[in-house]
Amino acid sequence: MFFIPDTDTLRLSSTLLTVAFTAVFLMLWLGRRQDRFLLHWAASAALYAGVLVAFEMFERGPTPGLGGALYAALAGCNALLLSGARLFEGKRPFPAWLWLPLPLGFLGYAVPFWLAAAGMDLPVPEGGRIGGFLALLVSVGSVGVLLLRGAHGRRGRRIAGLAVLAYAPGYVVAILLQLQEEMALQRIALLPMLSDQVLLAILYLGLLSMPGERAEVELREAVQRDPLTGAWNRAGMAALEPRLLAGGGALIVIDIDHFKAINDRHGHAVGDAVLSSFAAHMAALALEQGGRLVRLGGDEFVVLMAGATMDAAERLATRMHGVAQAGIAGLPPYTISLGLTLLGKADRSLTEAIARADERLYRAKFLGRNRMAS
Ligand code: GH3
Ligand code: MG
Repeated sequence: MFFIPDTDTLRLSSTLLTVAFTAVFLMLWLGRRQDRFLLHWAASAALYAGVLVAFEMFERGPTPGLGGALYAALAGCNALLLSGARLFEGKRPFPAWLWLPLPLGFLGYAVPFWLAAAGMDLPVPEGGRIGGFLALLVSVGSVGVLLLRGAHGRRGRRIAGLAVLAYAPGYVVAILLQLQEEMALQRIALLPMLSDQVLLAILYLGLLSMPGERAEVELREAVQRDPLTGAWNRAGMAALEPRLLAGGGALIVIDIDHFKAINDRHGHAVGDAVLSSFAAHMAALALEQGGRLVRLGGDEFVVLMAGATMDAAERLATRMHGVAQAGIAGLPPYTISLGLTLLGKADRSLTEAIARADERLYRAKFLGRNRMAS
């Protein structure tokens, strides 16, 4: 069966793994310099490798200062994981509280030595290690939970956060080991070291998946949006279609009156500005009622209102009509025509319902524009 490797071998594997991931993070950063969060993660992995080498070199005769610095550096590795994740989210990477576990790690290890030197009955280095591990528990606990709770790249963050939190039982075992020197515990003490490479690999793979996951969400969102107005496009409408058809609701088709004349008189760029400001206002009004604005093409839009009644649709249409008529400073004035319909049980697609709302829109146009028809 498997043989249980010694601590030195395990530490060597962890060192090689962290050096390899430092290189991976750096190579990815070289390809995309604006992704500076990769530098934070590279620094975290490199620092971890350095701490492992230092532990190996100074294990047999650590001074309180050096030992304390190593525990502080371990807390620093966790802080850099979180600062990278914060930068990834567009937040300030280093809030003051992020540094707190570092002095905690230093003092946790060094203070028992100083107290023992001052004459207190404290066993060292055991007391120092317990203090250091307690500080690391605070560090992995806070960094793990904050990684779990972040916004972008949810799945990857969760994996990374859980991997960091999974260090906590190892530290508890290490503390117990310092409290009572038993052979059974000696073997258990290998567990944290054995799990180190597994947890590091899971942690780094979780972090590495975050940019891809975010890009996927952004791409999905981009193909469902109209680039000029930011309104949903037909692909976005198709994604909503099953829910609307299943639960019913209302549709408002909106078209700007004589839009071609705005283009002709003021130029295409002003026409574009009218379209995007119009869409921004209408999308905000629609969203207040839980509706979504879709650009069907040109100057024609539809508001999809899942689960809405005709009354609710008429109220929203009246507000939209009023807002358009009030005009927007700096842009030429315009009016809109609107056609309303309810989604019926017989509707097999949104296209059918939109065609019905379109007929009403044309009636509004025919009757002189600047009005709604339902
Ligand atoms: P009606 O009152 O009957 O709706 O008249 P209209 O002029 O608004 O209708 P029509 O459909 O004839 O004109 C729509 C115009 O919208 C035609 C096209 O040149 C213009 N258009 C379509 N897409 C865009 C765009 O992305 N930007 C700009 N500036 N104009 C566009
Ligand atoms: Mg028009």
